[in-house]
Amino acid sequence: MAERFVIRAGRTYVDGAFRPAAVVIEDKRIADLLGPRDRVPAARAVLVPDDAVLLPGLVDSHVHVNEPGRTEWEGFRSATLAAAAGGVTTLVDMPLNSLPPTTTAEALSIKRAAAAPSAYVDVGFWGGAVPENLGALAPLHEAGVFGFKCFLSPSGVDEFPHLDRAQLSAAMEEIAGLGSRIIVHAEDPALLGDGGALGRGYDAFLASRPAASEASAIDAVIDAARRTGARAHILHLSDAHSLPAIRGAKAEGVALTVETCPHYLTIAAEEIPDGASEFKCCPPIREASNRDLLWAGVVDGTIDAIVSDHSPSTVDLKRSGGGDFGLAWGGIAGLQVGLSAVWTEARGRGIPLETLLPLFTTGPAAVAGLAAGAGVLEPGAPAHLTVFGLDDPLVIDAHRLLHKNPITAYDHRVLSGRVRRTWLHGKAMYNVTEGGAGEAPRFRGKPRGRMLSAAA
Ligand code: ZN
Repeated sequence: MAERFVIRAGRTYVDGAFRPAAVVIEDKRIADLLGPRDRVPAARAVLVPDDAVLLPGLVDSHVHVNEPGRTEWEGFRSATLAAAAGGVTTLVDMPLNSLPPTTTAEALSIKRAAAAPSAYVDVGFWGGAVPENLGALAPLHEAGVFGFKCFLSPSGVDEFPHLDRAQLSAAMEEIAGLGSRIIVHAEDPALLGDGGALGRGYDAFLASRPAASEASAIDAVIDAARRTGARAHILHLSDAHSLPAIRGAKAEGVALTVETCPHYLTIAAEEIPDGASEFKCCPPIREASNRDLLWAGVVDGTIDAIVSDHSPSTVDLKRSGGGDFGLAWGGIAGLQVGLSAVWTEARGRGIPLETLLPLFTTGPAAVAGLAAGAGVLEPGAPAHLTVFGLDDPLVIDAHRLLHKNPITAYDHRVLSGRVRRTWLHGKAMYNVTEGGAGEAPRFRGKPRGRMLSAAA
């Protein structure tokens, strides 16, 4: 018989608010949501203390796992363990930096075969739209990708070329016809620097990727979405000055969503030291004044999702060029720390956790079009849950994170709020308090993550 148990918490996140509840779990799903005093016959109970909250497992729709092909950068085992330790129970993998990139149905099956035996959380996949596969996206769509990623500027890897404006329009026509969605790295290459050495100062790098390049590319996406009717999503928004255009397009009824990332919300250009290439990402982290405006976009609901854009690489690549911001690999590893980092910043700004949670759960689930039940606690949903200690101190040590490579922009950050426990498909699989004297967390069981497919 399937095990039946109950998790009781004084603050359980249900329907956008916290309330006392007893979450009954049976056969890998949430069987019932009861009141705090309701009796649940013959059920084992887990009690969540009052200094913590019980949340649905988080969703991260923007993760670069890089396996197969660049598994030394990250891999499904390390990425999904890091995810679980960060409360993330569903991630959607990006189509590039793996080899092959996910631009054909065959490449998708190669990636699924790599992921299936080692996924500790549920994993879905984005496909890629590149010049070579335009006009032939249907097989990849039918094979179950959640949508198609494209770049409007060079991606950083030769095997994943970007689309020009005409190709973007063509891709969006095709994707609208399929009923799928396009997700766009929006920087205009005409307004970017030419990519050589820039030196160890952050200012030159920031100047080489100006806000105007994001604004121009975002305008092009909005225009194409309006013309083609394709659902479109702006990835990793850094330039807050594009928010009015996005807000306007949404109000007009354009099928548009937008995400930002913890590093844009918690780090400012002014504080990035010379040579600290672990802070390099594209688009770049901008000034503190821009960060304040991004927060306004979080609070007013314009921004739909906060996702990691976990974009790991080896230490050597991040340090190539000896701290030259032009030469280092661009990308920030942050899969394990997103909620803690953003919550620490939010509470300093007087923003409640309830404001953030949709952007870590239902928001990214909607961006990817995940099946009902992702990122919510409701009867029938998969029993993915996480416990977050609101005040737990957390000092980031890149060497203790579960990411494969010990380099991250969050190293040495002093955070408050930490994931304590995670359940996946009704099984306890992560418990930070079981680590013993040190802080090494305890994982239980084998990889139980499922391979998710979009319904074609
Ligand atoms: Zn990315």
